[in-house]
Amino acid sequence: MMNDSNSWLRIARVVVDVRTRTLDEPFDYAVPETLSDTVAVGCPVLVPLGPRNVVGYVVQRVATSTITRLKPIQSVLGTPLFTESAYHLARWIADEYAAPLSEALRLFLPPGGAPRVTRQEGPEGVSWKLVSPTVKAAEERLVTLIDATFEPSRASHLQRSVVDALREGPVTVGELTAELGPVSAALTALEKRGAVSLVSRRRWRGAGGSPTRPDTSHTLSAAQESAVAAIAAHPGSVFVLEGVTGSGKTEVYLRAISRVLAEGGGAIVLVPEISLTPQTVGRFRARFGPAVAVLHSRLSVGERFDQWDLLAKGEAQVVVGARSALFAPVKDLRLIIIDEEHETSYKQGSAPRYHARDVAARMSESGITVVLGTATPSLEARDAVDSGRWRGLALPDRVTGAGRPEIVVVDMGAEFGDGNRSMFSTALGEALDEILARKSKAVLFLNRRGFASFLLCRECGFVPRCPSCSVSLTYHERGDRLVCHHCGHNEPSPIACPRCSSPYLRRFGAGTQRVEDELRARWPGLAVVRMDADTTTGKGGHDRALTAFEALDSGVLLGTQMVAKGLDYPEVTLVGVINADTTMHLPDFRAAERTYQLLEQVSGRAGRGAEPGTVIIQTYWPDHPGVRAVESRDANILYDEERALRKELGWPPYSRLANVVVSGEEEKNVRAAAASIADQLTASADDGWRILGPADSALARVKRAYRRHILVKAPPGAPLGAALRDALAAVTPAKGVSVAPDVDPVDLL
Ligand SMILES: [Zn+2]
Ligand SMILES: [Zn+2]
Repeated sequence: MMNDSNSWLRIARVVVDVRTRTLDEPFDYAVPETLSDTVAVGCPVLVPLGPRNVVGYVVQRVATSTITRLKPIQSVLGTPLFTESAYHLARWIADEYAAPLSEALRLFLPPGGAPRVTRQEGPEGVSWKLVSPTVKAAEERLVTLIDATFEPSRASHLQRSVVDALREGPVTVGELTAELGPVSAALTALEKRGAVSLVSRRRWRGAGGSPTRPDTSHTLSAAQESAVAAIAAHPGSVFVLEGVTGSGKTEVYLRAISRVLAEGGGAIVLVPEISLTPQTVGRFRARFGPAVAVLHSRLSVGERFDQWDLLAKGEAQVVVGARSALFAPVKDLRLIIIDEEHETSYKQGSAPRYHARDVAARMSESGITVVLGTATPSLEARDAVDSGRWRGLALPDRVTGAGRPEIVVVDMGAEFGDGNRSMFSTALGEALDEILARKSKAVLFLNRRGFASFLLCRECGFVPRCPSCSVSLTYHERGDRLVCHHCGHNEPSPIACPRCSSPYLRRFGAGTQRVEDELRARWPGLAVVRMDADTTTGKGGHDRALTAFEALDSGVLLGTQMVAKGLDYPEVTLVGVINADTTMHLPDFRAAERTYQLLEQVSGRAGRGAEPGTVIIQTYWPDHPGVRAVESRDANILYDEERALRKELGWPPYSRLANVVVSGEEEKNVRAAAASIADQLTASADDGWRILGPADSALARVKRAYRRHILVKAPPGAPLGAALRDALAAVTPAKGVSVAPDVDPVDLL
């Protein structure tokens, strides 16, 4: 790349690709005269670092440096992989989430397409080797008939077949081979005689797989119409588009994208990985054809590389993908759509632990419009709309016209009092009798997060909670104690229910196997398909269970969280929630919100066909705001109570949280590191900050690692990333102990 104006900028600032928190700032390197024209922002370069060479990325060209004797860049390893604005965003992510800058920068690199330096141990000792990208562009050869009058000799049947195949239009060598067998000799002969031409071109992998069903034209409802108009009228705003399943959010997305494309811009559509099915992608491809690239983890590295490159080259203008597609190189990006905004999968679980929704909101500050779609907004999104920072849009009705299902809430405490010891209430039992009699289909949902158990009074539904955090206490068999995993409070477990004195204060939770056994014993004629982590291991296990259920004329699909998400079962007339209580008592301050979201989602599975359907929710806590919100179809019941509670106790969005998880095999070392980090944080905390813990994590042991955590609670908008970074830099944990800072955590387990 020729760039004369850069020649006086003899210094390049380079972020080295080494995973260490202390190497966070870019380093200055001299740009040799010979490389001056090629060293540009985004270029991978080889630079000396200590005794060896490492890969780094140029983030800036400058004229002066505070360092006097600079080492030179060794070589340039490729053309630019990211832009200057991508670097600024990476920088913001690193600061905001207390992550290493090189990790943040890696989000923007092509999948499998970046060079690396790897450590090799040989007989001569340790050496370092530069490894070129493993993934490269693939090519294919296109065959075109250029002499339509050409007649192959009678003897060469293969040449004749090739020429006949080409009369329909150009075909790739791969396609010819698939149809006719090995054709290269025939092609060489035909090319020599001037009958055909062979041209190499780029082969784009990952484009297939989605059904090319025809696009259906839609007349917009009044609500859709005004949503589309509002989005167009306020570029650079963040919109929260609220609408139940089937209310037509996707059509609003499609119209907004259409408009951006017409103006020459590009768009990003994020969908939770689990909902990123061929059907979902198909809707976008049906409307926009080859302008759509797709990025998700089920694609091969080669496919992801090509889809990424389609965007980088401007061959595609729209990307539909999972969380990390937010960093795809879409040219002239003007619109970001995040579907199912409330999904926790938008938060990355490893460094950098960014939240796609919040990064998108940051991106809106440079004029990009953001649309967050959801049936059950997070309290964060609701609050941002209420406070006027974001704009609210609503799609109140299902466009299909199908009615919403009837919701029946069953009080399991009352059932127990009446002598029903079964896990099926009278109402659910009768509904299943009817499924069997009428030969229809039901989905039974067993709410299960196996590890954290709690005590529940079978008679009044009471669950012991932490006096200061208001989260459920986790029951620990060892020592028979109750523990708060937010602040560390713990107490001996009571013998009788503190509220009603009942002796039936028991550990809560039944496995799928037990439910299945009782189902089979009571309804021997009912077909049961199970879908949970035990039965769907291995690739395609999930699809196999669904196919088996679809093939049934009548029967029950029994499953855990998997059955709740984004699946479409048109013939299902009954949805039964066996135990709504598990989510209510998760040791997490968002438990009520999650319960509501889950119940609303599960309810959406019933009555998607012609019949409206019935949803039966069994719970020991029928007054739970999430249950009442679903029952009366009024989300505000949940949001109003949650708002009040979180304000009072200082949970997000009325505070800002960070969770520092310290883990390792040696308990003593983990404890020591957690204690010194907590001390550091306490010493440097501003007014109004609170340091909770260290306490054992709710998941205190994962594999062989022991885990402790520290919660930092600060006022909204507090610079938690910087505070964590400083505190962590001041502590050197023992070998084998790892420290994971998580700013704005969505999961406190
Ligand atoms: Zn009780
Ligand atoms: Zn507590």
